[in-house]
Amino acid sequence: MSLLIKNAILNGSKTDLHIQDNRIDQISSAINCKADNVIDAQGKILLPGLMNGHTHAAMTLLRGFGDDMSLFDWLNDKIWPIEAKMTEEDVYWGTKLACLEMIKCGTTFFNDMYWFWPGSVKAVNEMGLRASLSGVLIDLFDKEKSAQQKRVIEEEFRLSKSFPERISYCIGPHAIYTVSADSLSWAQGFAKSNKLNLHLHLSETEKEVHDCIDQHGVRPVEYLEKIGVLADNVSIAHAIWLDDRELELLNQYNVGILTNPCANMKLSAGVFPFTRIQEAGILIGIGTDGVASNNNFDLFEEMKFTALVEKSRTGDPTTAPADCVFDCVTRNTASIFSANCGEIKEGKLADMILIDATVPPMVPGHSRVSDFVYSVNGSVVNTVICDGKILMQDRYISGEETIIAKARETAADLVAR
Ligand SMILES: [Zn+2]
Repeated sequence: MSLLIKNAILNGSKTDLHIQDNRIDQISSAINCKADNVIDAQGKILLPGLMNGHTHAAMTLLRGFGDDMSLFDWLNDKIWPIEAKMTEEDVYWGTKLACLEMIKCGTTFFNDMYWFWPGSVKAVNEMGLRASLSGVLIDLFDKEKSAQQKRVIEEEFRLSKSFPERISYCIGPHAIYTVSADSLSWAQGFAKSNKLNLHLHLSETEKEVHDCIDQHGVRPVEYLEKIGVLADNVSIAHAIWLDDRELELLNQYNVGILTNPCANMKLSAGVFPFTRIQEAGILIGIGTDGVASNNNFDLFEEMKFTALVEKSRTGDPTTAPADCVFDCVTRNTASIFSANCGEIKEGKLADMILIDATVPPMVPGHSRVSDFVYSVNGSVVNTVICDGKILMQDRYISGEETIIAKARETAADLVAR
């Protein structure tokens, strides 16, 4: 299959781009070859697809279900009790809704951590997005639970081999306060022997750090090193409460960090020290976290919050400049997840979006990177292409009415159970 995009604006110049199968094979000011599909992108700006580095997609079903609570009360009193009633079918429809919303706001990749992996993978496979999907591990320090979850992960990994390459399996031990050292070490052993990434929440709250010091005598990053989990296949979400020694370790082991500014602010988890992490040489990506704590998937908004929170934290408006923040949702996240995308270049995977440059927040257009970080939201996305296939054109996605109706029905049924 081939796709030709004509007359797009790339880095300020009129450009044609040719996609063969799932790769960008030619970028030039004029391409006049035949293609199976042609898009006339007159008046539209071509960008790499945005990449969501940390979320729990199926939590769309719980959007607005529990707000204005502390993280631990929210998890214990609202989220975990209702999640205990969830089924694979719920996760399937919740993830379908998540994919629909992500496509609508220009996301082509997400890193997910959730229960009922077969439900998530079925949804992502049908919706056409690229994803790193974790099998969750939470043993609550219970040996039986740990053994059962290890078996589930082995089975999910076996299943994952039958899905297309755009969907990768990832190991997702939830956090150090929900997973035993034995299970964490097993998870890393399994990840390494199968060449998989490992993703977990770390140092999201100050309480987590204090509890870790009380229980293990060291801070969370040092604890991961001590039990042999720290390695270059690891990425961590949140990472708000880190000391200098922990930053050194994360840099030494080449661990990427995914910050979640909206969720951090909504749950008052703390303020992510963007510049400090950047100066420590650590790659930063951005995630929305689950939409029960956000409450949407719009990475344009997330970029703006990332920049504004840092300027506010430092009292210095030159920190977290727009181009650095834009890299976080594109090339940095691609690098953290070893995905050959995040840039519009020949040879890269064909994941890209077209932005309508004629809408008011895109005018007059003095600086496009400024527009993307500070001015627009996801509604400016006109077309989404992932893995060489058109997922949305002129803001229309095939089957969207059914997904919305089924997700609404599923969420109502879940909370009534
Ligand atoms: Zn999370």
